[in-house]
Amino acid sequence: MTALLDGIYDGELSIGELLGHGNFGIGTFNALDGEMMIIDGVCYQLRGDGSAQVATLDQLSPFAIATNFVPRLKLEAPRNLQRSELSEFITSHLPSENFMYAVRITGHFQEVKVRTVSKQQRPYRPMTEATMDDKELQFHDVHGIIGGFRTPVYEKGIGVPGCHVHFVDDARSKGGHVLDFTLAEGTIEVCPGTDLELRLPLTQEFSEASLAPEDLDQQIHDTEVKS
Ligand SMILES: [Zn+2]
Repeated sequence: MTALLDGIYDGELSIGELLGHGNFGIGTFNALDGEMMIIDGVCYQLRGDGSAQVATLDQLSPFAIATNFVPRLKLEAPRNLQRSELSEFITSHLPSENFMYAVRITGHFQEVKVRTVSKQQRPYRPMTEATMDDKELQFHDVHGIIGGFRTPVYEKGIGVPGCHVHFVDDARSKGGHVLDFTLAEGTIEVCPGTDLELRLPLTQEFSEASLAPEDLDQQIHDTEVKS
């Protein structure tokens, strides 16, 4: 994640290989060409205009997280759950905040507000600049899935601490990186994780990246939370 913030937008991991590591996940594509969402073993590319398409196996990713989703907790969401209440609701049902958790929310959303990164041209700008002009889109009265990860604070820099989630609708026609939502009704499933395998790209750019910026918290907030 820190490399992404530093403008390292090209990785070496193919979608085909990534899918071998999990049937569920989120991420982005080389050149920051859209948000990624893996649901039931299918990888979707959510483009800058909010549209969704199935990614090809030879596309590459600079940043992705995947796991095999096995729900250990299944919760009925309180009605009209908002994004700001999600972390607290999930945390109150977890045995510990010190593990990693994959989270899948299936249901009917009154509203989902997303942003989607748009394809960058070289020379790449840092992510705080690249995401400044992201379009924000709002979907209303929509059925779909919000999926992603609840990452412990100690993993900051590898991933995004807290809940980092993406959305795709049931028709698999639209979605993006979730900024806000209201879940009218739905189910929240949680899959705990205790093993982390980290793959780093062997590129020159990555080897020269600045991976310990002093304002890491602020950069993550500006690019991922945006409010
Ligand atoms: Zn995202």
